[in-house]
Amino acid sequence: MLDAVRIDTILARGEPVFSFEFFPPKTPQAAEQLLRTIDELKPISPAFVSVTYGAMGSNRSQVIDLVARIKDEIGLNPMAHLSCTGHSRDELASILDQLASAGVDNVLALRGDPPRGEEFRPAADGFAHASDLVAFIRSRWDFCVGGACYPEKHPDAPDLETDLAHLATKVRAGTDFLITQLFFDDADYFAFVRRARAAGIDVPILPGIMPVTDVGGVRRMTSMCGAHLPSALESRLAEADGDPARVLSVGVEHATGQCRALLEGGVPGIHFYTLNKSPATRRIVAALRA
Ligand SMILES: Cc1cc2nc3c(=O)[nH]c(=O)nc-3n(C[C@H](O)[C@H](O)[C@H](O)COP(=O)(O)OP(=O)(O)OC[C@H]3O[C@@H](n4cnc5c(N)ncnc54)[C@H](O)[C@@H]3O)c2cc1C
Repeated sequence: MLDAVRIDTILARGEPVFSFEFFPPKTPQAAEQLLRTIDELKPISPAFVSVTYGAMGSNRSQVIDLVARIKDEIGLNPMAHLSCTGHSRDELASILDQLASAGVDNVLALRGDPPRGEEFRPAADGFAHASDLVAFIRSRWDFCVGGACYPEKHPDAPDLETDLAHLATKVRAGTDFLITQLFFDDADYFAFVRRARAAGIDVPILPGIMPVTDVGGVRRMTSMCGAHLPSALESRLAEADGDPARVLSVGVEHATGQCRALLEGGVPGIHFYTLNKSPATRRIVAALRA
């Protein structure tokens, strides 16, 4: 069994790390399959493995169960995502108590998304912003706390300056490190980090990379989260559309080039949005280590 390790302690070592994100599957069979996928990625020695919350229809008990199994059965360092959506403070406190009892050291504190087309509304006695959840966690628990950030600005924010001011508040509330929304042009990440540093945000900022494996999926995702697909990548994907092996090759090649340039540029690590599949991520890491 692994003694979980705080991500801030790992990042303070200054060696670039890899980490992987998964969402809890809906059926027990799919959960077993996911644990096998995570086991396949274990030889890469990720610094941590994260499990999303509330996204893709998952629920609270699935997240707690999955992070505990990642730690106890697979022996990897887990991070639980936790969002404010639909939860009162007491409910959030109960989830945080359960995570602490399970020996989890790392929590990604999020606001969460409203239903499509609606504005975010906090639950009764809940929180309106991720920074409120960060402060709440800091007030009673000893987790290492991560937060989300958006190189191309959060879709609700009027402009990047306002978004950065809110991000600075979230970091001052006690966020130990940040993970970016997915992006496909490294220039967006490096420009964002420069602006964040100028705004006084001094915590590590892990770039979030999603290898494209499905053309329709990435178009849907980018239209929701506001990330842009560079036109050269969009054309290559459009040409490959309908041929899954070719789409995978284009996606892996683009993401490998992104990761290589990011690592050369001195990033603290790479966080992979795996969408619960291992082949693309394994190919990218193998190419980077070759
Ligand atoms: C790495 C990563 C992981 C994610 N994992 C999940 C997940 O597991 N589950 C899930 O449901 N969603 C997840 N999301 C999506 C996330 O929940 C949404 O993007 C959500 O809309 C914003 O969450 P946040 O934590 O960034 O919110 P916040 O930091 O609260 O920011 C949200 C918006 O509010 C604004 N804002 C912040 N503070 C203030 C303030 N004091 N006053 C006015 N405006 C303010 C910000 O500028 C921004 O526009 C993830 C996103 C990322 C990047």
